[in-house]
Amino acid sequence: MSTRCNYVVTFIKILFNHITVSAIHAMQDKKDILFYKRYGKHQAKIQPCYNTSMIIDGWVDWAIRIDGVPDKVYTQKNTGEWITCHSVVGEESEFQDGVPNRFLSTDKDSSGRYTDSAAASCMFILRKNGDLIQMYPVWASTWTSGGREANTRSWAIEAEGGLNPYTEPLTSAASNTFVRLVREWEDYTHNKAVLNETLLQHRQVAQLFAYPATACASDRYSEAWEMCLQSNEDDMYKEKYEELTAAIEKRMAILALASDLNRYEEMLKAYEILKREGLL
Ligand SMILES: [Zn+2]
Repeated sequence: MSTRCNYVVTFIKILFNHITVSAIHAMQDKKDILFYKRYGKHQAKIQPCYNTSMIIDGWVDWAIRIDGVPDKVYTQKNTGEWITCHSVVGEESEFQDGVPNRFLSTDKDSSGRYTDSAAASCMFILRKNGDLIQMYPVWASTWTSGGREANTRSWAIEAEGGLNPYTEPLTSAASNTFVRLVREWEDYTHNKAVLNETLLQHRQVAQLFAYPATACASDRYSEAWEMCLQSNEDDMYKEKYEELTAAIEKRMAILALASDLNRYEEMLKAYEILKREGLL
């Protein structure tokens, strides 16, 4: 065998080796995308004091900050495993602050405890005009969702409106803001929005942990939830997934051709075929 042929055989061997490795990588990436689409990037516990590009020191950069009563929270940090959606069942006229009064109330009874009405707080208030109010940092466990598990494991959001009728859907401005917040939550917690799993209504959470039954949020977020599934991010993953599928198929075609060929003449022939077929 001539030196030139040896070089060619070595080259082809390295090439096929490289193709095999890159096919395996592409398959792994494809599996990661399927996993991410279903469960989020990873399931590790979040760090409470973590910054993203839009959540700085626990505060969403583009939200309106109205600080809540400091001691109306659990000492236990919020793990942000899902979002619990609520309905205010009422609204504030535009000249007011947009925060239901009981959240800012410090009324206490004779024993020094907050009254039932005042013993409530919330991380986010979603206004009909699309404004998002944030009252506590994202690691705070507010008194919103009926019990300790939900309050320490989920971000709570109250949507203005829903008095007449109770099922009043979110305005399109509020829906857009909700989707934007869900994206921030995904970025911060590395979880993924999955309807009825990581996006839950108060009603579902109450069933899950046997809290007092409620109709809240009266399906008001349904359209906004759907919008969370039709995002650019999903399109991006779909595109990447298809790209990887094509890459794997191409590499498999090359390997299928290569697997039968042992002798260098045939490998050279394969090289010509591959070039002709546009596979190299
Ligand atoms: Zn509720």
